[in-house]
Amino acid sequence: MSQIVIATHNLGKVREFQSLLEKHHVTVKSLYDINYEEEIEETGVTFEENALIKARAIAERFNVTALADDSGLEIDALGKRPGVYSARFAGEQRSDADNMDKVLIEMAGVEQDHRRARFVCVLAVVDPKGKEIIVRGECEGVILHEKRGNSGFGYDPIFYLPELKKTMAELSKEEKNAISHRANAFKLLEERIDELT
Ligand code: IMP
Repeated sequence: MSQIVIATHNLGKVREFQSLLEKHHVTVKSLYDINYEEEIEETGVTFEENALIKARAIAERFNVTALADDSGLEIDALGKRPGVYSARFAGEQRSDADNMDKVLIEMAGVEQDHRRARFVCVLAVVDPKGKEIIVRGECEGVILHEKRGNSGFGYDPIFYLPELKKTMAELSKEEKNAISHRANAFKLLEERIDELT
């Protein structure tokens, strides 16, 4: 495999994958590079389904190797919600702050021992022959009662890491990159990269 298309319009994500795949001598392209402007609808109910929908759509249409990701937050006390709906938990047009407020309200009566949660990142790679690789990286934590810290994005300020005694939003970029669900998924993918043609 000499080239891979990242099935996203988020150039930040494309750069992340570029730095990961550099040492494997793979050229990374974005959807802009192949003139694909449409949004791919995420109609799945699991992270795996959504990542596969996106990777398959691009691999089949352009006859290339395509990589897609899907990520979010699973909270045990909420039956693993918000899950695949993490970005739009408080509604289609809502902000990170609104999404966190909704979690804090739903978790208001939940005791300390039942506040376990995890960030999940699933990566799917599909090659032109239809070979598929799916990996899932996770990062375990606890939902706090209030927001703490200003770094990162999404649910980082309410996601507490007991071992580090900090929220994800109190970590530096480097610290987060060492332990995050995305980093863990990257590592699993790297172990299997040679399976692709
Ligand atoms: P997507 O993978 O870009 O669709 O992200 C889904 C949503 O999950 C984001 O909008 C965030 O709300 C949440 N999320 C994913 N990764 C993180 C993270 O590292 N920190 C905080 N929230 C995240």
